[in-house]
Amino acid sequence: MPHTQETETRQMVVNLAQDFLKAGLVVRTWGNFSARLDKDTFVITPSGKAYEGMQASELVTVATADGKPPLAKGSGKPSSESPMHARVYQRYPEIKVVAHTHQVYASALTLLGMDIDVPEPWQPVLGTTRIPLSAYALPGSRALHNNMADTLARSDAQIVLMGRHGAFILAETATECLRLAEDLERFAIDLFAECLGKEIAHRSDIQSDSDREKSLAQEWQKRRRKALPYLQIAKSCPGFQAL
Ligand SMILES: [Zn+2]
Repeated sequence: MPHTQETETRQMVVNLAQDFLKAGLVVRTWGNFSARLDKDTFVITPSGKAYEGMQASELVTVATADGKPPLAKGSGKPSSESPMHARVYQRYPEIKVVAHTHQVYASALTLLGMDIDVPEPWQPVLGTTRIPLSAYALPGSRALHNNMADTLARSDAQIVLMGRHGAFILAETATECLRLAEDLERFAIDLFAECLGKEIAHRSDIQSDSDREKSLAQEWQKRRRKALPYLQIAKSCPGFQAL
């Protein structure tokens, strides 16, 4: 890859990481971002460095084959999740950008411990009917990366949830990557709002004496109906019930 193109790709990843930071989808040094350079290599954010003030030169070039830097080059330490990104680039030639976040609501959703069926209105937004859940393993571990490989093998979704951990976004461009992460968070927030609506659903039992009261009661009833499938899921999760 020509030098200028690599420089552009590196800068694009730094900008992307900082856009995620501004959007509140990552904090401090957590999460990691990468972009494909060519068939055999990609660049990834370094381990344990803050995104604020990050320089394009600090990104680490690694091999798509194993997510490790070539031994000959004295470069920095790549994110410990680099092999997980490598699995994506190995599998999908069209994927150019990958992000891993601990975004709050999507991460909370992973506590359900199961794939999430996407309701119809959200399907075109998230590009899938089901968001797969990759099984939990320690962050940075080979087991975690193998679990991700298994999940990628059974799903074409560009969004993968990681059990008790976070989200993994696969995209063709940086713009798509940020858009998917933002929409995933909105979807997760919507889901929680629907579920929390159950408390106020009792409103429908109240004798309403104004149009406003009636329309509110109808609204909550509608929300509760939409939330029912998720309330069923929630019943299997004691932590969720505590909400
Ligand atoms: Zn993580």
